[in-house]
Amino acid sequence: MSEAGEWEVYAVKYATSAERLRRDNFITPPDPHDGPMPIDYFVWAVTNGTRTFVVDTGFDAAEAEARGRTLLRTAAEGLATVGIDASKVEDVVITHLHYDHAGGHDQFPLARYHLQESEMHYATGRHMCSHAIAHPFTVDHVTDMVRRVFDGRVSFVDGERRLAPGLSVHLVGGHSMGLQVVRVRTRRGWVVLASDASHFYENMEAAAPFPIVFNVGDMVQGWETLKQLAETPAHIVPGHDPLVLQRYPAVSADLEGIAVRLDIEPKT
Ligand SMILES: [Zn+2]
Ligand SMILES: [Zn+2]
Repeated sequence: MSEAGEWEVYAVKYATSAERLRRDNFITPPDPHDGPMPIDYFVWAVTNGTRTFVVDTGFDAAEAEARGRTLLRTAAEGLATVGIDASKVEDVVITHLHYDHAGGHDQFPLARYHLQESEMHYATGRHMCSHAIAHPFTVDHVTDMVRRVFDGRVSFVDGERRLAPGLSVHLVGGHSMGLQVVRVRTRRGWVVLASDASHFYENMEAAAPFPIVFNVGDMVQGWETLKQLAETPAHIVPGHDPLVLQRYPAVSADLEGIAVRLDIEPKT
């Protein structure tokens, strides 16, 4: 059990895409030389031993096949490696409704979903008529969430909300209209799960936006919001960077390259 209001935070890798190139990850690459720049896919968990919040729900094998990604384990399998039983989780934060963050809802039968209202508007409104905007969404994920709304299992957020002592969500937008980030108090101070507010460390550090973007200005402002919310820039955890698994300590030796502790100081 941690101190009151201090949480343990985990990042669990569930998928990867090794073929990705640098030019896929920046509107304007920071340097003109193209080359491999693999991307990892994560779910996160915030727990104090009594309450557990899962952040995002990943995608399934069919989705991985359709989009040419490599699924390593489902979100539920990944969470099980750090001792979390998805079937018992009561709170899930959905940072945004893109396919890699909002699939697999049947893995969390008891969960209430915390989602920005603007993200639901976005995913069910006029912008989805455009393939350029809609392609990172999967319609079944969106309709699953609509069903959760009618089941009374969605808690809509408008801007920011404190979910528990030392845990809150904050609207950032930019990448997706209703993208929210998660701020968590830990033993090393305030950690921010940036999700796709910054896919890689390099997006925010080089001020180089990721190409999937609804509003570039909001994405750029979002990096400032991340800095304001985090204890230091080293407390901001990007959403897709393989470096996260190198910088943070593995949960245990057998989970090297799979699951790390974000509430413990990074190694570099
Ligand atoms: Zn996204
Ligand atoms: Zn993503």
